[in-house]
Amino acid sequence: MKYTAWGRFPVIDATPVFFDENLVLNNPAFESDSLIPFGNGRSYGDSALASRYIPMRNHDRMLSFDEETGHLVCEAGVLLSEIIEAFIPRGWFLKITPGTKLITVGGAIASDVHGKNHHVAGCFSESVESMRILLPDGTIQTCAKGDELFHATCGGMGLTGIILDANLSLKRVTSQNINQTCIKTQNLQETFSAFEEYAVQPYSVAWIDCLAKGDEIGKCLLMVGDFTDDGDFEYKAKKRVTVPFDFPSFTLNSFSVKMFNRQYYRKAAEGISQQKVGIDTFFYPLDAINNWNRIYGKNGFTQYQFILPKEGSFDGLNEILKSITESGKGSFLAVLKLYGPANENYLSFPLEGYSLALDFKIEKDLFKLLDQLDKIVAHYGGRIYLTKDVRVSRETFELGYPQVEAFRAFRKKMGLDTVLNSLQSQRLGL
Ligand SMILES: Cc1cc2nc3c(=O)[nH]c(=O)nc-3n(C[C@H](O)[C@H](O)[C@H](O)COP(=O)(O)OP(=O)(O)OC[C@H]3O[C@@H](n4cnc5c(N)ncnc54)[C@H](O)[C@@H]3O)c2cc1C
Repeated sequence: MKYTAWGRFPVIDATPVFFDENLVLNNPAFESDSLIPFGNGRSYGDSALASRYIPMRNHDRMLSFDEETGHLVCEAGVLLSEIIEAFIPRGWFLKITPGTKLITVGGAIASDVHGKNHHVAGCFSESVESMRILLPDGTIQTCAKGDELFHATCGGMGLTGIILDANLSLKRVTSQNINQTCIKTQNLQETFSAFEEYAVQPYSVAWIDCLAKGDEIGKCLLMVGDFTDDGDFEYKAKKRVTVPFDFPSFTLNSFSVKMFNRQYYRKAAEGISQQKVGIDTFFYPLDAINNWNRIYGKNGFTQYQFILPKEGSFDGLNEILKSITESGKGSFLAVLKLYGPANENYLSFPLEGYSLALDFKIEKDLFKLLDQLDKIVAHYGGRIYLTKDVRVSRETFELGYPQVEAFRAFRKKMGLDTVLNSLQSQRLGL
C-alpha cells in the first residue's frame, strides 16, 4: 500500500500492522526492524514512515475527565480537534496547541509539539501528567516527568514504544474567543522589538514576507492575543473548504509567491489593529482548507523549520532570509516564533530563541539551498525540527542535538533500536 505524510514526499510502499494491547511488539506480526507508529500523518517528512507502520488513529476513546483538576485521560489516537469540540463548551482548552488541531495526542507527545505560547508555557509535554507506553518486550510502562522513558518519549518521534494513552492536564478558559492584536512592522529590527514588547502576551506568532529585499528584509505581521472574558462557549468548528486536485507544479513560482506576500502584507492595516476572533481563526487558520498540501503539486513539498539561540537570532535570520531571497525560491508560509527555555527531553526541538518555518515545493536544487541554510543554522548554534524534516544530514542533526547519544544509549538498553525505526531514524542513525 502506498503511503506518505503531510509533505507528500516521499511516497513509499508500506504495510499497516494493526495491534491491540494483548499483542506485544515482539510478536511475529511485529518482526521487523522497520516499524513505526503513525498518528494522523500531519508530520511533514519521514518520521512516521517505515515499511511497516502502526495506525493509531482508531485508538480514540476518551477514558475519564476530572472536572476539578481538568485532567483528561484519553487514548493516543484521539485528535486535538476532538478534545476541543468536547471540552471548549465546558470551559476547558489545551494548555499547548500547535498550528493544526488535526493531530493525535500520540503525535503531539512524540514530536513534543509547541504552540504560539512556548515562551510562557513550554511544549506539549508540560501538559502530560503521565502516559502508558507499550515496549518491545511486551510490558506496558507508566511514566511521568522525571522518568527517563518520559524524557526520551516526548520528542522521541515514535522510537521509544507505542504511546497507548495519556493523562493530560487541560486549562480553564474564559471564552472561546481571542482578543487579537496585529502589529505591522517594516523590517527585522522592528519585528524583534515588537516580539520583545509584546512578550507578556501569552500567544504570539509572526508571518514574515520572506521575499522582501534590502531595508525591508524581515518585515512582518505579528499577531498576539489572549482569551477574552466574555463567557462565550458556543463553539462550532469552522466549515472547511477542499483543494480538489493537485495544482500543476508551475502554479507556485517565485512570481506568484511574491504577489501573494505583497497582497497579504498590504491588506493588513498599518501600525496596530485589533479584533475579536474565534479559536479556529486564531490558532488553526490552515485547517480551514482541507488538503491544502495539494497546492504544491504532485511532487510534494517540505517545511524547513529551524531555531536559533536568542543571541545569534537577529544576525542568523538576516543571513538566512537574504539567502532565500537570492535563491529566488519563494515560501508562502514563513512563520516566526519566540521561544522560552529548553526542557529536559532528549530530542525536543525548542530552545530559548527564535524559530522560522518555511514551506518549499520539492524541486531541483531545493536541497542544495537547504544544505546551505543548514550551515548558517549550525554556525549560530541552532537546530532543525525533526517533525518537519525529510533530508537533514546526520552530521548537521548531531550538531544541533547534544543529547542524541543519551537517546541512542536508551534505545539500545531498552531493545528499541532493533524494532522501532523510521526512514528518518535510519538516516540519522537514531
Ligand atoms: C498545518 C500544520 C501546522 C503545524 N503547526 C505546528 C506547530 O505550530 N508546532 C508544532 O510543534 N508542530 C506543528 N505541526 C506539526 C505537527 O503538529 C506534528 O508533526 C505532529 O506530531 C503530527 O501528529 P500526527 O498525529 O499527525 O502524527 P504523525 O505525523 O502520524 O507522526 C508524527 C510522529 O509521531 C509518532 N507517533 C504518532 N503516534 C504515536 C504513538 N501513539 N506512539 C508513539 N509515537 C507516535 C510517529 O511515529 C511520528 O514519529 C504542524 C503541522 C501542520 C500540518
